[in-house]
Amino acid sequence: LAAESLASSASTAAAVLGASFPSGFGSFVHGEVAPGTGRRLTLTAAATGEAFAAYADLGQDGADALLESSRRGAAAWGATDAFARAAVLRDVSRAIAEHGEELALLESATTGKPIRDTRAEAAKVAEMFGYYAGWADKVTGLTIPVPGHWHTYTERVPWGVVVAITPWNAPMFTGGWNAAAPLAAGNAVVVKPSEFTPASTVRLAQIAFEAGLPAGALNVAAGLGSTTGAALTTDRRVGKVSFIGSVPTGRAVAVAAAQAGIPTVLELGGKSANIVFADADLERAADGAVSAIFSGAGQSCVAGSRLLVQRSAYEDFVELVAHRASLLRLGDPLSPDTEIGPIITARQYETVTALIAAGVEGGARRITSAQTPAAVREGALGGGFWVPPTLLAGVSPDNVVESTEVFGPVVGADAFDDAEEAIARANASAFGLAGAVWTENVARAHHVARSVDAGTFWINAYKTIHVAAPFGGFGDSGHGRSSGPGVLDEYTQTKAIWTPTAPAPVPFPSLASEG
Ligand code: NAD
Repeated sequence: LAAESLASSASTAAAVLGASFPSGFGSFVHGEVAPGTGRRLTLTAAATGEAFAAYADLGQDGADALLESSRRGAAAWGATDAFARAAVLRDVSRAIAEHGEELALLESATTGKPIRDTRAEAAKVAEMFGYYAGWADKVTGLTIPVPGHWHTYTERVPWGVVVAITPWNAPMFTGGWNAAAPLAAGNAVVVKPSEFTPASTVRLAQIAFEAGLPAGALNVAAGLGSTTGAALTTDRRVGKVSFIGSVPTGRAVAVAAAQAGIPTVLELGGKSANIVFADADLERAADGAVSAIFSGAGQSCVAGSRLLVQRSAYEDFVELVAHRASLLRLGDPLSPDTEIGPIITARQYETVTALIAAGVEGGARRITSAQTPAAVREGALGGGFWVPPTLLAGVSPDNVVESTEVFGPVVGADAFDDAEEAIARANASAFGLAGAVWTENVARAHHVARSVDAGTFWINAYKTIHVAAPFGGFGDSGHGRSSGPGVLDEYTQTKAIWTPTAPAPVPFPSLASEG
C-alpha cells in the first residue's frame, strides 16, 4: 500500500489497518497482538466521519494479564546490561526508520493527520529511540563524601513498570516520546494510547519487539481510559505513571495514582502566547504564527493560540496571518500536498465549533480562511470533522477563547502597547507550556523570554522541539519533564549504599569489650 495511490475512506482505513495487522487488531501483550476482554470500541476515519473497524477494550482482566507480562518484561529487561540495552534500542530505532512509511500511512489513514506530518513524526520517533539508546549506558550514580570513614555511593534503579498514558492528537509521536527514555533506563513500559487512535502505537511496539526488545518490555493496552487506563494507573505492580493529555484527566489520574502510592509525570494542555513586536520581521513572524497555530489543525499542546501583537502593527499583522491562512491546503490526509487535516475526533469537533461560536458571541471578529470546509466537502471527503483555519480578532482578556484551550485551528488575536503589558497578558493564563516572542531587539527578546512562565520559549521561532531538549509545563500545564538528558532521573530512583572503610565506632559502649 502506498499513500500516493490511496484516497481517504473507510475502506482505505480498514485496508491499511488490515495490512499492518493481518491477524486482527487489539492490544500488544508479551510479543503478541491480543484481543481485549472488554466491550467493543469503534474506530472512525476523521476525514470522512465513517466507522472503519472495531476492537475490544483490553479491560480489567486483560490489564491484569498485561501487567503480569510487564512485570516479567521488567525483570528481563532490567537484568540486561546497559550496553546490551543500548544496542537493542539502536536496533529498534533502525527498525522504526525502516517501517517509517508503513507507520506514517497507518497513522494518517486511522487518524486523518496529513501524511507529510506523520512521515516527519515517524522519523522523529526513530530518532527518539536512537537518542535514548545513547543514554542507556550513561546512567550513573555518584560517590558521596560523608563525615567519618565511609565509602558512600548512589545507584540509579529503574522503577520497574512505567505506564505511559497518551492522547489522540499525536499517538505515535507521544507513544515513542514517553516510551524511549524509561526503556533506556531499564524499565518495562506499558503505553495506553487514546481509545480513538491506538493503531500506530500497537504497531510501534510490535516492530520494537521484532527488533529485539524482550517480551513484556513494551506492551500496549488498547482501550478506554475509564476501564483499562484506570486499571493500569492504580495497580501496585506499576512503579510510575507518565500522562500526556488534558488537565482534568491528568489531575484525576494523578490523584488516583497517588492514592495507590504511585508517582506521576504530567504533560498537560496549553494556551501559549505568541508575542509579536512592531519591530519584528513581520513576514517571518506571520509564517511563524501560522505554523504555530494551524499545523496539526491546532491539535497541538504547544499551539500558539494567543496571538498578541503590538498595537502599531496589529491591523497589518492580522491581515498577513489571515492571508496566509487562506492559502493553506485542506484535503485528503493521504495526499502529500495536504497541509491541514480534519479534527481527529467527533467530540473534539463539537468542542471546537462551539468555542468559535462562544468567542464570536463574546465580541471577537471571525476571520476564516476563504477555503472553507465546503471546498473539502465538494471533494471526496464529505462528512468528516473539518474546521477551516480560523482567526478571531479582538479577543479580549475576558473572552472564553482567551482562557480555554480550543485544541483546534483557532487563534485569538489582540493588541498590546508595551512589553510589560504583553508579559502580564501572557502570564494571565493558568497554563504555562510554551510561548514565543518576535522582535529584533535582543535585550527585549531575552527579557520577555525570562519573564513569561512557560516550560519552552522561542525567540523569533515557534514550534521546534527535540527529544534532546527538556520539555514540560509550568502551572496547569503539568510537572516533571519528559525529554532531554535529565529525564533519566524521572525514570530511575536513587539508592544510597554505605560501607565503612575503617572499623566503625560501636553503637553502645557496653559492646566495646566484646569487640
Ligand atoms: P484526555 O485527557 O481526554 O485523554 C488522554 C488519555 O487519558 C487517553 O488515553 C484517555 O483514554 C486516558 N484516560 C482518560 N481517563 C482516564 C482515567 N480515568 N485513567 C487513566 N487514563 C485515562 O486527552 P485527549 O483529549 O486525548 O488529548 C488532548 C489533550 O492532551 C489536550 O489538552 C492537549 O493539550 C493535551 N496534550 C498535551 C501534550 C503535552 O505534551 N503537554 C501533548 C499532547 C496533548
